[in-house]
Amino acid sequence: MSVVDEFRKANDAYASSFQKGHLLMPPARHVAVLTCMDARLHPARFLGLDEGDAHVIRNAGGRASEDAIRSLVISQQLLGTTTVVVIHHTDCGMLTFSNDDLRSKIKQDLHANADHIDFLPFKDLEQSVRDDVATIKSSPLILNNVEVSGFIYDVKSGKLIQVE
Ligand SMILES: [Zn+2]
Repeated sequence: MSVVDEFRKANDAYASSFQKGHLLMPPARHVAVLTCMDARLHPARFLGLDEGDAHVIRNAGGRASEDAIRSLVISQQLLGTTTVVVIHHTDCGMLTFSNDDLRSKIKQDLHANADHIDFLPFKDLEQSVRDDVATIKSSPLILNNVEVSGFIYDVKSGKLIQVE
């Protein structure tokens, strides 16, 4: 069975007992979470989120990229979220390469030029969280009075550690 067929089967089971069709669009817990796309992270489980509770914005690294800010602006301005939580994690793939590494690979494998893309890798995990919290806090597009906190999720223990 292909993974898409597996998805269809899993979704049939999910929809057969689905009872959340009444949920409203604005997140019930007024929170937006920015985190990494890493397959080992299951934010709904490790944060205790249910359908309808939160915006979970994911990208490589959980970085406060231009597109993450775009989503946060929509989350705050149109859907009423008032808290932002940034979660990076141990053993992140973003610690393992540089922009030059990936740009060279793309040149070699795809004969394409990615020199204009900052893939936002990082060398220091805690600092990357501080940087993204600071980027969000200082953005003129983000509400002034929102709480922005930063955490590291430990993929070995499942624990969240706050970054001060
Ligand atoms: Zn990651």
